[in-house]
Amino acid sequence: MSQRYVVEPPAQPSLPVVGSTQLFPVRRIYCVGRNYVAHAHEMGGDPEREPPFFFSKPADAVVPQGGEVPYPPKTSSLHFELELVVAIGKGGADIPLEQALDHVYGYALGIDLTRRDLQNEAKQMRRPWDMSKGFDWSAPCTAIHPAAEIGHPESARISLAVDGEIKQDSDIALMIWKTHEIVSYLSGLVRLEPGDLIMTGTPEGVGPVQRGQTMECTFGNWDRLSVRMV
Ligand code: MN
Repeated sequence: MSQRYVVEPPAQPSLPVVGSTQLFPVRRIYCVGRNYVAHAHEMGGDPEREPPFFFSKPADAVVPQGGEVPYPPKTSSLHFELELVVAIGKGGADIPLEQALDHVYGYALGIDLTRRDLQNEAKQMRRPWDMSKGFDWSAPCTAIHPAAEIGHPESARISLAVDGEIKQDSDIALMIWKTHEIVSYLSGLVRLEPGDLIMTGTPEGVGPVQRGQTMECTFGNWDRLSVRMV
């Protein structure tokens, strides 16, 4: 036990980095709502006239490289949302659009697991989304692929299958707000710091996943993510 703190300090959440033995420390996880036209329509919105909106998950919701994830309590409608994840490497506030990508360390693929029943209830009652979005184990994520290796992808296929059946199959080129726009806009709301992750929103095809089912995801030609709900 450390002498400095009255209880054991929490472990630093982190993600592996492809091609490195060093880790990416996770500071905050921001998430974008409704960033693909077809998904916004399936959720009953009209996104093209709306600025991006954000919610967040705790840093320790991250599940490095997937694997077995416990089905969360207090829900009977756990949904998958497959998303490009942007990892911030350089901090800043009010970052101009043309400099935004300089703040990005790399990219990963993640699943924004959602208690859809609790989220729908929260929407109806105008209550916060924290317990529908920010629960334990709610952000399975691949390792981070440094932009120094893969560049800043404007297009990449992302797909998610449940027990072999494709449910989401899209391309990050279809994001309404692009990576540089999201980084710039978000940095006008909060100061971004190294270690921040941004989940950039999901394409259409979201749906439920049950205990015992396995989600297999692809991220361009770079990576795969497998998550089994237990
Ligand atoms: Mn999402």
